[in-house]
Amino acid sequence: SKTAYVRTKPHLNIGTMGHVDHGKTTLTAAITKVLAERGSGTFVPFDRIDRAPEEAARGITINIAHVEYETDTRHYAHVDMPGHADYVKNMVTGAAQLDGAILVVSALDGIMPQTAEHVLLARQVGVDHIVVALNKADGADDEELIDLVELEVRDLLTQHGYAGDSVPVVRVSGLRALEGDPRWTASIEALLDAVDTYVPMPERYLDAPFLLPVENVLTITGRGTVVTGAVERGTVRIGDRVEVLGAELESVVTGLETFGKPMEEAQAGDNVALLLRGVARDAVRRGLVVAAPGSVVPRRRFSAQVYVLSAREGGRTTPVSTGYRPQFYIRTADVVGDMHLGEAGVARPGETVTVNVELGREVPLEPGLGFAIREGGRTVGAGTVTAVV
Ligand code: GDP
Ligand code: MG
Repeated sequence: SKTAYVRTKPHLNIGTMGHVDHGKTTLTAAITKVLAERGSGTFVPFDRIDRAPEEAARGITINIAHVEYETDTRHYAHVDMPGHADYVKNMVTGAAQLDGAILVVSALDGIMPQTAEHVLLARQVGVDHIVVALNKADGADDEELIDLVELEVRDLLTQHGYAGDSVPVVRVSGLRALEGDPRWTASIEALLDAVDTYVPMPERYLDAPFLLPVENVLTITGRGTVVTGAVERGTVRIGDRVEVLGAELESVVTGLETFGKPMEEAQAGDNVALLLRGVARDAVRRGLVVAAPGSVVPRRRFSAQVYVLSAREGGRTTPVSTGYRPQFYIRTADVVGDMHLGEAGVARPGETVTVNVELGREVPLEPGLGFAIREGGRTVGAGTVTAVV
């Protein structure tokens, strides 16, 4: 039988962000290798991370690799996403649920467009702590050039409201560490130390009623339907009754796992699989919410503060106006909605406005909840719910 998950250290969710080819996946593999050699975790090779199983859910392809590892003080779930579109989807919908992030910047190339976009996204979704990995430092023989890239990155972070002057910037080589070079292995350890000390343990709402946005649905032959996702708040135990909002059904949790290990109780921040008794595979889907029965009332109408992305940030070139009907990415859900823009009736790219939204279907909503606005497969806005009607 499988070894049970034993909660001995605080659990955090982190991930790599940054421009394509700057070395996110290589670094992710290198972290698992360095820690595996220290005896805390399993080495996950590059190919296993980069070819994470694709999940086609409701027309959007979700591609996200989770690896887990432990440092001396913490247990981490780490996400690595292959493409820019995956960042937009998973970060803004909260599927990635990052408590902190490692921004990977190639010391050879410096800031590139997706570096800036991911920093902007991180700020929008409330990732308050970023550690920088100046990667490919093995290939840069001019120290002054790396110094310049470091300055540039600190500047970018400051521009987006981060403490750019004090953010840890660690020069690493994921590739050389993977090859076992001691100097660069030490650089990965330094990076992990920076993450351990700089990213604070987030506040977890353990006393709140249980809530989990469904990321994925699977069938385990002979056992039933399993939903996966990160617990947003509260705790859940085997035997607990839960409600699936959007499917209008109740069930009982008959199994709980994290990273393939059975557990008795899952809590806010954990990435888990819940086995639900008597639920048909097609009765549940990504975007629904599993919660303590009666703890949330789904709604369709809310007010929000919305930032309309500028064209430079990948947003629209033309204003949006009342009657605009984009997709709203709320938690893991993707719902169409009508937007009303108040008296002015329009908002130009780059502006922040107050809007009223009426969604096409009810979803659990609450003040402070973040969401993204998408149109034709790209993000055009990001917002926060201010009031639920
Ligand atoms: P991602 O798109 O950000 O995930 O980047 P990858 O991890 O796929 O790496 C892109 C390319 O950069 C690959 O050819 C890697 O071998 C190379 N690379 C990654 N890390 C390093 C590094 O530390 N040093 C050098 N010289 N090359 C690296
Ligand atoms: Mg990659």
